[in-house]
Amino acid sequence: MIIRPVSPIFGHAYEKVCADCVARWHRLLGKKVFFLTGTDEYGTKIQRAAKQAGKDPKKFVDEMVVHFEAMDKALNVKYDRFIRTTDADHVKVCKDIFQKLYDKGDIYLGEYSGWYCPECETFYTEKDLVDGNCPTHKKKPEWVKEESYFFKMSKYQDLVLKKLKEKDSIIPPGRAKEIINRIEDGLQDLSVSRVNVFWSIPVPFDKKHFQYVWTTALLNYVTGAGYGTKNFDKIWPADYHFIGPDILWHHTAIWYSILAAAEIPLPKTVSVHGWITFGGEKMSKSRGAVVDPIEISEKHGSDAIRYYLLREVPFGQNGSFTEEALVRRVNNELANELGNLVNRTIVMIEKYSKGEIPKGEADKRLQKKLNLGEITELMDKLELHHALAEIFSFVSACNQFINEKEPWKLQGEEQAAVLYSLADSLRIIAILLYAFMPGTAKKINQQLGISLGKIADCEFNKLKAGTKVKKAGILFKKIE
Ligand SMILES: [Zn+2]
Repeated sequence: MIIRPVSPIFGHAYEKVCADCVARWHRLLGKKVFFLTGTDEYGTKIQRAAKQAGKDPKKFVDEMVVHFEAMDKALNVKYDRFIRTTDADHVKVCKDIFQKLYDKGDIYLGEYSGWYCPECETFYTEKDLVDGNCPTHKKKPEWVKEESYFFKMSKYQDLVLKKLKEKDSIIPPGRAKEIINRIEDGLQDLSVSRVNVFWSIPVPFDKKHFQYVWTTALLNYVTGAGYGTKNFDKIWPADYHFIGPDILWHHTAIWYSILAAAEIPLPKTVSVHGWITFGGEKMSKSRGAVVDPIEISEKHGSDAIRYYLLREVPFGQNGSFTEEALVRRVNNELANELGNLVNRTIVMIEKYSKGEIPKGEADKRLQKKLNLGEITELMDKLELHHALAEIFSFVSACNQFINEKEPWKLQGEEQAAVLYSLADSLRIIAILLYAFMPGTAKKINQQLGISLGKIADCEFNKLKAGTKVKKAGILFKKIE
């Protein structure tokens, strides 16, 4: 993902949480993960926003980036690098690649005349417009006529199409069709420099020209992965690009052509999330329907908001946020189901087993309630909400198990076996929940007196008897 730092909105929060969840999951699988996020700081949109604020563009973005980093912190998003397109190493990569494409004849000087939407910083043909307006912003674009360098995007049409027709190149696959149709209509060469936009990276061989903001934005991914260093091959190609549907064109047609021209391997997957609305209304400042993700996180905790977004919104589809719905989920699923299970288990171990995990074997019928294979498969397909629902169905099964066994009525080995089954199940639940709710996973483990395992540890009977449990505060307080 690459985000234009004008103001952090809920959609950004959602995108970050999805990417963070998938990154954490892959770390749990024992893979080496490099999670890159950052801000796209050049272009007319920033130039104009800075001017409006009466600030120098660099000073403007320096001040804005602080809010985006604060949002990541508030949401417990753990990235490996936060790249800013104004970073020195990135400026160098953009100049190097522009020069490389020019040298091989894929960039040439011409004249651009056509429509340009400054909101999405995108060039449109007459045919792309809807009632004469930008298809995304519904605003009349600007007519631009000027000298420009062009990138031979047309040359890469077949290659891009071939890639997009591969299985899983776009998740969810339903998004692929529209973009494939658009590319099959014909890729035109792309204007990749402007003479009237000074807030960008200069074209290395022509001081009058500045690079097109989208190419400098997209190239962040290879800079972040260490392009030009020996680490690059270890990290690139990217397994996932997490984006919103409005920039799928840029992340396929434009991005794949540039990569192909620069002889860099193409990413494996572009993962397209849906929009978050505010109770069905599009969030917009003008309508007053703005929810500040940092505020919500401070009020209810980062795990509550993460849980809500990942459970409520099917990945790839649009979803809605309301605080009432969040409160409902916190009270029912997090406090009643999960919180209760943890609390009951630890209290009973303290009461009946002197605060130590008893010796025992995990109940065979309870073991069968955990569908690890299915959870893993759902995570592979980015069906995050289904995976989370499946984990919670195991949480429910554990609560059901307590109700059926009534361990307070049992004694000796029988009782110990039930308590062991519950504690061992909680250990596994903590591992599975870590990707979704890292703070909660940590708290469960603290109470169990153990450290976090990996997916490979999601086998039963791995919990050591004799481990001291430690009761702590309530996991999720009910919200009135
Ligand atoms: Zn637009």
